Amino acid sequence: MSTRCGIGYDLHRLEAGRKLIVGGIELEFDKGPAGHSDGDVVAHALCDALLGAAGLGDIGTHFPDTDPKWKGADSMIFLQHARKLLDEKKLAIEHVDAVVILERPKLGPHFPKMREALGRALGVEPAKIHLKAKTNEGVDAVGRGEAIAAYVVATLVAR
Ligand SMILES: [Zn+2]
Repeated sequence: MSTRCGIGYDLHRLEAGRKLIVGGIELEFDKGPAGHSDGDVVAHALCDALLGAAGLGDIGTHFPDTDPKWKGADSMIFLQHARKLLDEKKLAIEHVDAVVILERPKLGPHFPKMREALGRALGVEPAKIHLKAKTNEGVDAVGRGEAIAAYVVATLVAR
């Protein structure tokens, strides 16, 4: 059985008046990610990790931010599309591990719902999706609460 790993990273600036969408769910907060789509860093980094593991380029290849079609798009659509591409290549998601970096609000209490939403979009059990939260200890743009970032590693197996 062959195993492949992919890594993904994403960062969005946080701006007042935008919805804070992380891992497919909306959180109560006064700022949210600026971006062409809904700015969900977990979904974007996860999409890149899956595409990378499958050798299929990156999110920009499949969903160019110059395309008005993706303006304000629900990022779960990107994951559903990635799932379809993996299916075509006979690759299955074995495990996903993510780190989300954000000063506020606290993400931990929302992880069960995020894992459910991500699992639904990808057609895998939430148990295969692991999420971790970090702050940036007040350092840099993320630490000043000006941005949100995520790292994701995805492991795929050939079916
Ligand atoms: Zn993004």
